[in-house]
Amino acid sequence: MNLIIFGPPGAGKGTQSNFIVNKYDLFQLSTGRILREEVKNKTELGIKIDSLMSSGSLIENKIVNKLIEGFVSNIKYKNRFIFDGYPRNIEQANNLDALLQKYEQKIDLVLDLSVSLDIVKKRISGRSACSICGKIYNDFFNTPPKNSSCCDSKFLQKRSDDTLDIAVKRFQTYEKNMDPLIKFYKDLNLLKSVNGERTISQISAEISGIIDSIEG
Ligand SMILES: [Zn+2]
Repeated sequence: MNLIIFGPPGAGKGTQSNFIVNKYDLFQLSTGRILREEVKNKTELGIKIDSLMSSGSLIENKIVNKLIEGFVSNIKYKNRFIFDGYPRNIEQANNLDALLQKYEQKIDLVLDLSVSLDIVKKRISGRSACSICGKIYNDFFNTPPKNSSCCDSKFLQKRSDDTLDIAVKRFQTYEKNMDPLIKFYKDLNLLKSVNGERTISQISAEISGIIDSIEG
């Protein structure tokens, strides 16, 4: 099966993607990551992407499509995709559809991890890291153990308020951009909404149930 996972920043999309990849032996195609890898490997395309990004220009659909086709055409990954960070608009969704068709594949499921801005704010503003061991905690969801010699509150560091402001803007932009796309997949009967405001394991369990019902 091929699936797409949507979710605003702070919804825990990365965690759930990893869970799905491991449980169902899928291949995660994250456009952000493949773009960064091209740049790092200094391929011809990578050099072009690098100059576009440094000048603040958008990466054209054509470039992203070419990269994605490289994976979709690879028999190793056939019907094993989880698309993360793509598509981001209707044009890309149509492109993806055409590409998959070309290689006799399709999207079987679109998971939409939904979470309110309020919860995202708590997840981000409550987050702190132990400056000694690097463990990540959260004032609201995951507090450090008591009587720990290491992760004492005096060692915990919070991120700056800027991080929260940026996160709120990213969340709002995400919601606005994704609305048409959510509708697009809803109309195709592929969309399944998942409540992202519960614990990681509860969310994973719901996702498993959905995937199993489609696979079985
Ligand atoms: Zn610690």
